Amino acid sequence: MTYSYEAPVSQSLFDRAAAVTPGGVNSPVRAFQAVGGTPRFMVSGAGPYLVDADGREYVDLVCSWGPMILGHSHPEVIAAVQEAVSRGTSFGTPGEGEVALAEEIVDRIGPVERVRLVSSGTEATMSAIRLARGFTGRSKVVKFAGCYHGHVDSLLASAGSGVATFGLPGTPGVTEAQAAETIVLPYNDIDAVRAAFAAQPGAIACVITEASPGNMGIVPPEPGFNGQLKELCREHGALFVSDEVMTGFRVSRQGWFGIDQVVPDLMTFGKVMGGGFPAAAFGGRADVMAQLAPEGPVYQAGTLSGNPVATAAGLAQLRLLDDAAYAAVDSASEQLRGAVTEALSKAGVAHQVQAAGNMFSVFFTDEPVTDYEGARAQEVFRFTALFHSMLEQGVYLPPSAFESWFVSTAHDDGALERVADALPDAARAAAEATA
Ligand code: PLP
Repeated sequence: MTYSYEAPVSQSLFDRAAAVTPGGVNSPVRAFQAVGGTPRFMVSGAGPYLVDADGREYVDLVCSWGPMILGHSHPEVIAAVQEAVSRGTSFGTPGEGEVALAEEIVDRIGPVERVRLVSSGTEATMSAIRLARGFTGRSKVVKFAGCYHGHVDSLLASAGSGVATFGLPGTPGVTEAQAAETIVLPYNDIDAVRAAFAAQPGAIACVITEASPGNMGIVPPEPGFNGQLKELCREHGALFVSDEVMTGFRVSRQGWFGIDQVVPDLMTFGKVMGGGFPAAAFGGRADVMAQLAPEGPVYQAGTLSGNPVATAAGLAQLRLLDDAAYAAVDSASEQLRGAVTEALSKAGVAHQVQAAGNMFSVFFTDEPVTDYEGARAQEVFRFTALFHSMLEQGVYLPPSAFESWFVSTAHDDGALERVADALPDAARAAAEATA
């Protein structure tokens, strides 16, 4: 594919980056390998807009992969960060900010009786799995194909996000022993879970699932699926771990738990709770969390865990996320979904717009997508055409067909109109695309 527009400054930065960093990026999907072309190096963000190194402005529908739910450079978040920075950036001691953030999480999310702060979603899921193994004395973990829980060794088998984007079956560097401890099942298939428990009596420490998957594109749980998972775990003495790194504090005040009310034993969080800084968490039942060091024997630690700047940003963001804020994000998402559906329908492109609360994505297929196999069966080349047309017209979509689109409270009528204006051409490009 050739592109009719150029980004010379981004390209020269990418060339420099590639000389010192593998693939020129610090997280694979950023490299645009799935869609081709030059990754845009962003220099600033304000509200719903990003500006790249060539001075071009975009409506941002990635929102840093979820965290920026108030838009970029929200004045109150920036003020909280500046205030925190002015007092120092890291002490390696306890501080009040981390207590306040933990209190905010416990206050919002009923099943979280105790919470531990970490610095990334990967650390949160890795620690939750270790804790589940320590608590149950068992080793095996059930995960679902297409769900991504960060780059934890044992959880990379059939993972979503970048692993899905690049079609990787797994990844070298993960030992057979680690892979053997992971049982990968098709998503939304409760019979497969039942069969796994029957085949491995007393061996499964936990079932981990994205509360509502967003890393193979948006594939919500079928009604009752999470509840049945929880019930099977309870029957077989395993823990139910709900990964809300993406959905947490985004799809409602209480994340996906606020939507389906299924009570997990452990939950993981990240993204929105850090306000654009590295802050994440895992938490849940007090008796399980009590197994963590220094209260219990399961070790877990972090030099920068509960960092004062990150916790100030996260707390400021969460405190601004009231019912009105969620209503604004939901409404922006609904308007965009309507505009995408209209444009693709008019252009005669087979598609499904699938949503989980205010997160959504588009699959280029006739059939509703309920699992990873369905997600992979879509016509990805149509997404590529749509992506480049939107980029050219100043709309920044996730550079992969297997990622959620995100909006924020800052996506006002002006920003949404810009997206709506760009969609008809992009839909035509998708219609005309060939494999
Ligand atoms: N879990 C889920 C559901 C995610 O979406 C992600 C990241 O996208 C992670 C875990 C890993 O989080 P991080 O990238 O902060 O390590």
